[in-house]
Amino acid sequence: MLATSRRVLTVNCPVRMDDGSVQVFTGFRAQHNNVRGPFKGGLRYHPDVTASEASALAMLMTWKCALMNVPFGGAKGGVACDPKALSEGELCRLTRRFTKELAPVIGPDQDIPAPDVGTNAQVMAWILDTYSTDVGKNALGVVTGKPVSVGGSVGREEATGRGCAYVVCRAFERLERPLPGARIAVQGFGNVGSWFAQLISEFGATVVAVSGTSGGVHNPGGLDIAALRRYRETSRDLTGFDGGDKISNDELLTCDCDVLVPAALEGTITPKIAGKIRAGMIVEAANGPIVPEAEEVLDDADVIIVPDILASGGGVVVSYFEWVQGIMSYFWKIEDVRDRLKEVMDRAFDDVFALAKEKNVKLRSASYMLGVGRVAEACRLKGLFP
Ligand code: NAD
Repeated sequence: MLATSRRVLTVNCPVRMDDGSVQVFTGFRAQHNNVRGPFKGGLRYHPDVTASEASALAMLMTWKCALMNVPFGGAKGGVACDPKALSEGELCRLTRRFTKELAPVIGPDQDIPAPDVGTNAQVMAWILDTYSTDVGKNALGVVTGKPVSVGGSVGREEATGRGCAYVVCRAFERLERPLPGARIAVQGFGNVGSWFAQLISEFGATVVAVSGTSGGVHNPGGLDIAALRRYRETSRDLTGFDGGDKISNDELLTCDCDVLVPAALEGTITPKIAGKIRAGMIVEAANGPIVPEAEEVLDDADVIIVPDILASGGGVVVSYFEWVQGIMSYFWKIEDVRDRLKEVMDRAFDDVFALAKEKNVKLRSASYMLGVGRVAEACRLKGLFP
């Protein structure tokens, strides 16, 4: 039951383009398991989106929600498209048509999408509006990651990066190492990577390198992350930032640092690059960044790996807070969101760390033992229908 998705929906969405032509975009929604609560997971707009990618990421979501102990199952989906090549109007029409095609299988008690690579709060607002128009009422709980002004939660946008920063702090605490002075390299400077970089430097670590699609910047003395975030608003290419030296994507992964944080896409750490990594700890802010063969190389080198279902769980935790606030129509203060997020991330890290010690296994195995174990227990207790 746990090895396959319960349902994978493929839809083809005809969209009127700005030049008057019609283009058909293929989209997917994989729903892996909902035994612990409604399906939950991001929607990705990227040329490489496929049904099998969605299914793999949906399964990861099931384990992540269980490990974070939020009452959701796992789903994932998206549209095969290049969002950067679409105008705002085209993106809006594509999103509305995609939502209408998904309408039979999503909903506040059924399946609740959220932003992922290539989608953002604006896309969630369009989904909310389309779905609400369809059902004839404001269905706040149908998506999370909405803008605050239409029922989103404060602190959702920063949540995955913040959660990951809390995990790094907790790991240093448990390993009895000082965070101040720790050198961090971050691959990917999108939502997750840029928030993580900013917060971990606020917490006292030194971010020595970051990269985007076309390369990155390196400064052994520490990058000014706030300045880099401002620079990114006007230029997508980080390599022109004058607060550090230009480096390639591979150089970022192999640079001299204590913690490497992949926060871009899956599969970026290959066996070839793994052998050259100098960081003693890798914290997976992205989903599935380390390919399994690379993990063997890293394990042999005793690199500590904090797995994705733990390190990037902050987003779904605050999504859960947003869903609860929407249902109650009672909205929390930012301090409440941050405090409760910290509580959940610390507890999840401590549970994993203790189990890893007790069973003498890696953090990834311990995370899966907890996540899969909770889902399996719920499956057994509920039994089979009919
Ligand atoms: P995003 O689109 O905002 O950012 C991704 C960034 O990675 C972009 O800036 C892109 O230029 C960069 N990138 C792509 N390939 C790269 C490469 N080879 N080297 C360096 N940079 C590269 O997406 P995001 O929301 O920040 O998501 C990043 C990862 O985190 C994904 O794996 C996603 O599934 C995962 N994640 C996101 C959330 C969330 O709340 N947004 C939650 C959990 C997990």
